[in-house]
Amino acid sequence: MLIESIIRKTLGLKRFCVKEVKEEDGQLLVYLAPDKRYKLACSRCGKKMPGYDTLAETRWRHVPLWGIPVVLIYAPRRVKCATCGVKVEAIPWTQGKSPLSVPLSVVLATWAKEVAWQVVGRLFGFHWNTVRKAVKDVVDYGLKHRDISDVVYIGIDEISRRKGHIYHTQVYDLIGKRLLWSGEGRSSSTLEAFCDELGTERCEQIEAVCCDMWAPYLDVIKERFPNAVLVFDKFHIVRHLIEAVDTVRKQEAWELKAANPELLKKTRYIWLKNPCNLTEHQRVRLSDLEKLNLKINRAYLLKEAFRRFWDYTYPAWAKKYLDQWFWWATHSRLQPMRRFAWMIRRHEKDILNYFKVLIDNGCVEALNNKAKSISHRAFGYRTSRTFNLAQYHGMGKLPMPPLTHKFV
Ligand SMILES: [Zn+2]
Repeated sequence: MLIESIIRKTLGLKRFCVKEVKEEDGQLLVYLAPDKRYKLACSRCGKKMPGYDTLAETRWRHVPLWGIPVVLIYAPRRVKCATCGVKVEAIPWTQGKSPLSVPLSVVLATWAKEVAWQVVGRLFGFHWNTVRKAVKDVVDYGLKHRDISDVVYIGIDEISRRKGHIYHTQVYDLIGKRLLWSGEGRSSSTLEAFCDELGTERCEQIEAVCCDMWAPYLDVIKERFPNAVLVFDKFHIVRHLIEAVDTVRKQEAWELKAANPELLKKTRYIWLKNPCNLTEHQRVRLSDLEKLNLKINRAYLLKEAFRRFWDYTYPAWAKKYLDQWFWWATHSRLQPMRRFAWMIRRHEKDILNYFKVLIDNGCVEALNNKAKSISHRAFGYRTSRTFNLAQYHGMGKLPMPPLTHKFV
């Protein structure tokens, strides 16, 4: 009797009752029945409707009780809905065609945010694929019920899986700091797919889009987000700059190979890191190297000078500073730095947009690192579907189905 009332309470049963609880093959079988005093509700529109017929018994796996598997058994009825036609009745512990009860999905999915999916499965005595189903149920619910009406600034980035062999385009809500969309590929058609899902009205509502200046989908952005300011992402620009500095170092190390092979050894991070993050040892090494007339040192000074660009508040002043920097870089006689400077000049307008809308993909970086830590410890990300599922679950800030009892 006690078990029955615990089940009734934790499931929040209102229009249903627990008929019987049996133990069979080490499982608790919970037979549920409708409470005949209540009318049925249509699962599609939720309106109270007369019954039509009864389907065969269905089983749902439920949250194990003290390590004992629990199975819910119920024969769903169908309603004859005036609006929707013949539909299955609304059943509070299920969602769609999932073989898991909603509380079980929520419990497994909550754990799947903390530890690897296969660990969750092992702890609860389920197969990995059951955990995957639980995450899918919760993500499906979340995507259907999330509110994206307030999204105005989006960031677009790419992420790779399978050691960089497969790329996914990710779209983030930069204010809500959450993942909005993830799709395999990194071509213009990948982004088109996102725009199609978002719909024309929402696309027109977007005020700013932040992305890399080398993104292959710049034309799509201009076409599909007609009211958005395009902002080239600060972090991507800095990454290009750092690559240029590193190329200078490699070339110079090559030139010095015969004369002084040791001089630039193990100096990569000294030139690339933020000076305030250097260790004492690196700082001493840097100040020694600075005394020499090295090409890498000139590139380093240019890189450090570029940092000041972001401190400006007014676009006009930032532009003035950029002009000075451009002159300096193009007269540096360092080919990689000149190439970077010209790239900046070509995209200047959209880089200066940063000072109009102060956004960057900084939060994306943090989210991506989190995603990477998830994907490293996960198993079975071989399909892009499962990968996307894990992405949405880990970074989407999606709402969970509400429960009347807190299981975890
Ligand atoms: Zn209906």
